Amino acid sequence: MSGKHWPAGTQCVTKHDHTKPKAQELAFCKGDVVTIIEAVEGKGWYRARHNETGQEGLLAASALRERGAIRADPKLSLMPWFHGKISGVEAVQELQPPEDGLFLVRESVRHPGDYVLCVSFGKEVIHYRVVHEENTLSIDSQQYFSNLIDMIEHYMKEQGAICTKLVKPKPKTGMKSAEEELAKAGWLLNLQHLALGDRIGQGEFGDVLQGEYMGQKVAVKNIKCDVTAQAFLAETAAMTKVRHKNLVCLLGVILHNGLYIVMEFMSKGNLVNFLRTRGRALVPARQLLLFALDVAQGMDYLESKKLVHRDLAARNILISGENVAKVSDFGLARVNPKGADATLLPVKWTAPEALKHNKFSSKSDVWSYGILLWETFSFGRAPYPKLSLKEVTELLEQGYRMDPPEGCPPSVYTLMKSCWELEPSKRPSFKKLVEKLQKELKHLRDV
Ligand code: ADP
Ligand code: MG
Repeated sequence: MSGKHWPAGTQCVTKHDHTKPKAQELAFCKGDVVTIIEAVEGKGWYRARHNETGQEGLLAASALRERGAIRADPKLSLMPWFHGKISGVEAVQELQPPEDGLFLVRESVRHPGDYVLCVSFGKEVIHYRVVHEENTLSIDSQQYFSNLIDMIEHYMKEQGAICTKLVKPKPKTGMKSAEEELAKAGWLLNLQHLALGDRIGQGEFGDVLQGEYMGQKVAVKNIKCDVTAQAFLAETAAMTKVRHKNLVCLLGVILHNGLYIVMEFMSKGNLVNFLRTRGRALVPARQLLLFALDVAQGMDYLESKKLVHRDLAARNILISGENVAKVSDFGLARVNPKGADATLLPVKWTAPEALKHNKFSSKSDVWSYGILLWETFSFGRAPYPKLSLKEVTELLEQGYRMDPPEGCPPSVYTLMKSCWELEPSKRPSFKKLVEKLQKELKHLRDV
């Protein structure tokens, strides 16, 4: 028997075809994705649901592998067919030998800012100018799209005003299709199974909607801008590497409307709103400690995977229906890779060495965790009330630290201060923070 044990909800990919199932068995083809429902006692079998057909049945563990992680590879592209600024002549060369429906998109040399869709048809290559107007794109001034990804998606399904349906993208040399890689690894979900509901949040880069995917409640982050969507592949790649009860779980992605990132639904929203709307009267100190412990455990796991969060703050902690706190927004590509644009950093949460020298590490995450503790025990107040960003930076250098929030246990304040040691190596590890918080909780139970 195999030693694997996959908990309910694990996404697995099938290793071969099984097209003639016996009674109660599941039918599948190699590469299909299934969701584990439960292990069958002592058998090395699982009951699972097929993500495409929705059917449930039994399959052998030996037919399954867990989905692999996606590597954040700069060659991975949501738009491998986008060739940038090449001339019409070069585009024609790229599309040799002729093949109906072979296509690429280039930037227009003559009309900067416009795109050109080049399609091989018959023995010719036809060039369609894509006009860019008020944030929309169109070829025929009848069908409008908000980005190139959508436009290509559309013309791969419908011929519309062009000579042929788009059939086969011609990738730019060296580029790999993110869609293909995601599908191979088992992270591409099916748009047909997704039902979208109300907007539950507004992210910096797009709306967050509530939804349902094959019977499971989900949250869907929609990134409409194709360039930003591409940058978010890095976040998504980081999310494919991790699985922990205190990290918001990624179900998968869909390339539609730009990018849909489908996550588990956290019904009680973010920690700041949770605490602000309930306050001292409704949230006991024990619950605050439990949230703090949850976050420290999630971060300890991230640290063990050598992942640095860079944007740890109460706004990025989400609360489940069962009051479990989970870290979200990790592995972000949003911090300017050049590091030059310090104006984008969340100054009041960022460690001095990260602000000044771009030195991000698990220890700079620990600094942010200290701020998060302060936010938690002040029931969602904004840190350094009344101080400007400039003042905060200066005062910190002089050794100033925030006072404890009202009613904060002294031992918790000591923890915060230890996170705010100027010297990163003097700050505790997340493992140590977990231990201290567990002790604190035990103490609370004993008195
Ligand atoms: P940003 O891109 O700005 O970091 P977030 O991921 O923080 O966006 O999401 C913005 C808001 O949407 C959150 O503060 C939260 O209220 C809501 N939200 C995000 N993800 C989820 C989720 N998985 N479940 C429930 N609500 C969510
Ligand atoms: Mg956020």
